[in-house]
Amino acid sequence: MGYYGVAMKYSVRELRTLQVALRPHPAEDAPWHIGCNSPASMRVLISGAGIAGLTLALCLQRQGHEVLLIDKMPRLRSDGYMIDFFGPGYRAAELLGLLPRLQVLHQPVTHTTFLARDGAQRFTIPYSQLRTLTRGRFCNFLRGDLERLLSESLTGRVPIRFGTEVMSVKEDRGAVHVMLSDITTHSCDLLVGADGVHSRVRTLSFGPEQSFRRYLGCHAAACILERPPSLSAQDGTYFTISLPGRQAVIHPLRDGQVAVFFAHADPCSTYETVQFAIRSKLAKRYGDLGWHIPELLRRQSEGSYVYYDTASQIIMQAWTRGRIVLVGDACWCGSLLAGQGASLAMAGAYALSEELERERDIPAALSRYERRLRPLVELKQKEGRDFAGWFVPESALKCAARDLALRMTSFLSALPLHNYSLANSEAF
Ligand SMILES: Cc1cc2nc3c(=O)[nH]c(=O)nc-3n(C[C@H](O)[C@H](O)[C@H](O)COP(=O)(O)OP(=O)(O)OC[C@H]3O[C@@H](n4cnc5c(N)ncnc54)[C@H](O)[C@@H]3O)c2cc1C
Repeated sequence: MGYYGVAMKYSVRELRTLQVALRPHPAEDAPWHIGCNSPASMRVLISGAGIAGLTLALCLQRQGHEVLLIDKMPRLRSDGYMIDFFGPGYRAAELLGLLPRLQVLHQPVTHTTFLARDGAQRFTIPYSQLRTLTRGRFCNFLRGDLERLLSESLTGRVPIRFGTEVMSVKEDRGAVHVMLSDITTHSCDLLVGADGVHSRVRTLSFGPEQSFRRYLGCHAAACILERPPSLSAQDGTYFTISLPGRQAVIHPLRDGQVAVFFAHADPCSTYETVQFAIRSKLAKRYGDLGWHIPELLRRQSEGSYVYYDTASQIIMQAWTRGRIVLVGDACWCGSLLAGQGASLAMAGAYALSEELERERDIPAALSRYERRLRPLVELKQKEGRDFAGWFVPESALKCAARDLALRMTSFLSALPLHNYSLANSEAF
């Protein structure tokens, strides 16, 4: 989804974005080798085995700390959507030595093709600019594939307790005391909430979700299905049907699968959580679209898990409290409209581990982490809010303006961008 967002951002605000894109790439920092300067070992409990939690566990384990990872899901999630991965997370993956394995997961995307509701082709925009702007430091993969790669790196090193969540948290001067849903208690030096946009650690330690959530006006659904035989195996293309107030994106993958994404404008900031209700809502909203959509809607009724949530941001005054810290979507979710959430989750986790290694006093290290990441996070969140009205425009006129601007992105490929990077995008 990120590319679609990036392309639209170019088109809607192309001059401003281009101006940023044309800044020279910063000199790369000397690589930081985890483990060469470890302080005394800490006991760290991480809630959430997503991209942020798994990355942090990997970094801290390499530094010699004792880590326990928990996740409320019964197993690693395999559901998901396609991710455009570049910028700070790409750099963090490089520092962690993961790039060769990310290249194996990479499923190249070549085009976004816009279709009419009956499947007739309207226009195509190429993907090549993004690759040029990132100097090829860019991958596409499924979110679940990245999580599997990270968890394989932890096998035998960090225990992951699935089906478990934090029930209560109490902090005193020297430790955080946590009770888990499996009725075990743990005293740790540091508690990390990496448990996503609906974070439980955040609720228990910082306050209710409604104090921090900002709704951006649309709902999104995503799932991975078996490709219907009638849909050509033309992978590498995002097929997009965009109508006032809603859009469907279909992306054939390798291995006979297809990634399906739906988004629609909705004034209501609450959302369905029961799979049956989600499926019937999608059937009502998108059932009148032609092409392969009816077949895909039928297929998602056959037992596959469908991700469904609102596009919302989490905006907090503070991400840390004593020895409790939040990382990733739990504290700075920019929503799918901002893009780069996976990239920021990985870079943020890496930066947190780096600050914990540099500074022995835990609360001081957490403050440094927050000061370091905030400017980047606030910039991404602002981009997401600016873009909100253009993602699924509700009027036909605004859709037409957006499409016109999108077509203009093709001109970017004619510009001499080869010596520049996308918005200094790897610094963190
Ligand atoms: C449709 C869509 C498209 C996207 N496209 C892109 C893209 O192209 N590029 C990009 O960089 N980003 C993209 N993102 C954003 C990206 O997926 C997220 O920002 C990223 O996954 C955040 O990682 P995280 O680890 O912070 O949180 P999550 O990935 O949400 O992981 C949180 C983990 O915590 C667990 N958990 C939840 N509640 C609890 C609890 N109570 N107790 C214990 N564990 C719990 C969950 O099971 C999960 O494993 C997209 C997001 C969406 C929805």
